Amino acid sequence: MSLHIHDLRATLEDGTEILKGVTLDIPKGEVHAIMGPNGSGKSTLSKVIAGHEGYLVTGGSVTLDGQDIFSMSIDERSRAGIFLAFQYPSEVPGVSNANFIRAALQARLPQGEELDAVAYYHRLYAKMDLLEIDRKFTARSVNEGFSGGEKKRNEVLQLMMLEPLYGILDETDSGLDIDALKIVAKGVNAMRAPHRGFLLITHYQRLLDYIKPDYVHVMAEGRIVRSGGPELAHELEKDGYEFLKDLAPA
Ligand code: ADP
Ligand code: MG
Repeated sequence: MSLHIHDLRATLEDGTEILKGVTLDIPKGEVHAIMGPNGSGKSTLSKVIAGHEGYLVTGGSVTLDGQDIFSMSIDERSRAGIFLAFQYPSEVPGVSNANFIRAALQARLPQGEELDAVAYYHRLYAKMDLLEIDRKFTARSVNEGFSGGEKKRNEVLQLMMLEPLYGILDETDSGLDIDALKIVAKGVNAMRAPHRGFLLITHYQRLLDYIKPDYVHVMAEGRIVRSGGPELAHELEKDGYEFLKDLAPA
């Protein structure tokens, strides 16, 4: 049982190829990190998996427990258990944070079944306490006027409430100070489980000090060019991405 990406190719709508054959298998229970220079296609990969518009899949496959995710709508992918925390989370004016998450959970229940409001708020507050999010955020519009760090913590709150099978976190560490980073890591670590996998996309090694990955992959020019254990992240931190210039062009 895994999230399996095979020889995935994707272009922008103008035909520019961004993903040039990405292959990656993330079994449940594992945390994989993707690092790489800016512009290498990391966010594109996460958005193509989540079903973001603006990209065309031109080859390869992505399956969740053997099921082709490209045959599913964005909503179906989400309900099937794929959660993407965006690099740049959107604001949703007029919808309170509490109602937003509640609607997402309600949508996952069988027809006619009502989410228990008391139990919902009980859980929500417990997760908010863990992530050190002030209670007043329940009533505020989703991400509206939130600082960068608050948005990122809010993404992790959604992740914790929705309990996906796969959490994809796109640079959830960027713009966080060390205390906020530790809080985000605490949330993610609390969600690690044998039945759940993670794909952490990060430009810096720092996050991986707090969320220890099982595997680290380097993405460059739309491909995974190196894979290794956690030590690869340290190596990249020390030596940078210099080695990439020696690679043959795609
Ligand atoms: P990363 O997350 O690794 O920094 P991205 O996936 O964001 O990389 O971007 C990969 C490349 O694709 C970059 O050159 C970027 O400018 C381009 N790109 C991605 N999405 C778009 C888009 N919607 N419109 C135009 N260019 C895009
Ligand atoms: Mg990115």
